[in-house]
Amino acid sequence: MRVTPVGRIFMDLILRNLTEDIVISELDSMINKLDCCKCDKCRLDIASYALNRLPAKYIATTQGELMSKISFIDNDFRMRVATELSKGAQVVKKNPRHAAVPNSPLPNPLPDVMNN
Ligand SMILES: [Zn+2]
Repeated sequence: MRVTPVGRIFMDLILRNLTEDIVISELDSMINKLDCCKCDKCRLDIASYALNRLPAKYIATTQGELMSKISFIDNDFRMRVATELSKGAQVVKKNPRHAAVPNSPLPNPLPDVMNN
């Protein structure tokens, strides 16, 4: 008789915030329409802005199932994601951190780079 230890099952599963996957994929598809800088820092700031304003959708799944779970996300939620990304793009455009501008309007600013 083969006993599968519980820990092994956990190792096959990943804990994932689907909102994060959706935000990143929507940002990639919207980035050329957003009137803002497209550098990695600005993209991640826009994603952070949206993620801090959207509910988390955690699931435990396998890597293989992940893409099919993402495709089941309803359009209303995708619209919300797109709205928050557009707002985030406007905020980041006014105060891009790539240029080391102090007083970031983001909710969780990183340590002030001007002090380094
Ligand atoms: Zn930038």
